[in-house]
Amino acid sequence: FQRLTSGLKKSSDQLTDNIAAVFTKKKLDDETLEQLEDVLIQADLGIDTAVEITERLAKDRFDKEISVDEIRQVLRDEVAKVLEPVAQPLMLDGGHSPHVILMVGVNGSGKTTTIGKLTAKLTAEGKKVVLAAGDTFRAAAVEQLQVWGERSNVEVITRPTGADASGLAFDAVTEAKAQGADVLIIDTAGRLQNRDELMAELEKIIRVIKKIDETAPHTTLLTLDATTGQNALNQVEIFGKRANVSGLVMTKLDGTARGGILVAIAKKYKLPVHFIGVGESIGDLEPFAAQDFAEAIAG
Ligand code: GDP
Repeated sequence: FQRLTSGLKKSSDQLTDNIAAVFTKKKLDDETLEQLEDVLIQADLGIDTAVEITERLAKDRFDKEISVDEIRQVLRDEVAKVLEPVAQPLMLDGGHSPHVILMVGVNGSGKTTTIGKLTAKLTAEGKKVVLAAGDTFRAAAVEQLQVWGERSNVEVITRPTGADASGLAFDAVTEAKAQGADVLIIDTAGRLQNRDELMAELEKIIRVIKKIDETAPHTTLLTLDATTGQNALNQVEIFGKRANVSGLVMTKLDGTARGGILVAIAKKYKLPVHFIGVGESIGDLEPFAAQDFAEAIAG
């Protein structure tokens, strides 16, 4: 919780400074409500949530004196209300062997790092994990995944640069199955310059995996970089349907002023949020907790 509070300090500082600036005259009138709504929208919380918060304040407290702390309390409550239904732990108890996790997201969103952190968590729980370096376009991506594999002492299945990613995925599922692995995590490419080609590749990977296990992939995680703000919403839209995303990981929540975007995404898409990334190190992946997040962001 401490990490989250310090991570979201920029988001909450900016938000509470802006709220304080609106409420210099302390009375809740039309003008202050409108300004407050703008502040909440600027904080990336999304129009719906911003409107709900101001409407609740208007209903309960219109024309009355109100303190910044009271507003923060309403903010905290409303944000928690949006986040609670989506805060869901990642469940790997479906009895699949292996449980196949497909990791998707644009380049730089934190896929490989998140795989590394997740692998450390799972191996610490005694699970046998195998990784597959499905971003076959970038040699650096493969090397980066190998480094993470070494850190947790797990096998990383690779192919030469330019090899067909779906072929690698097929081999990886076969191999992980033969080895009796509990979890296989497949990294994927994330070039967004060519969205259709990328989506077609992801669809092909999914199709091919299903030839071995029609229930796989059992989890498809989309990593979203919190610092990109509104772009993250577009990425959920793009990947959500075509890659059949089952859950989200929001990365880089340490030190961004744009953490509010998670609220907008939760409200609009209602996809489970499993983890948040709060740093670059192996331990910097935390289960997503709605109340903690709401408290951290409201300051
Ligand atoms: P990929 O291209 O989606 O695989 O993204 P990477 O895993 O390579 O991450 C891109 C950059 O973001 C790297 O420099 C990571 O160290 C960094 N990164 C990933 N997650 C986090 C996080 O939660 N916090 C911070 N501060 N940096 C992160």
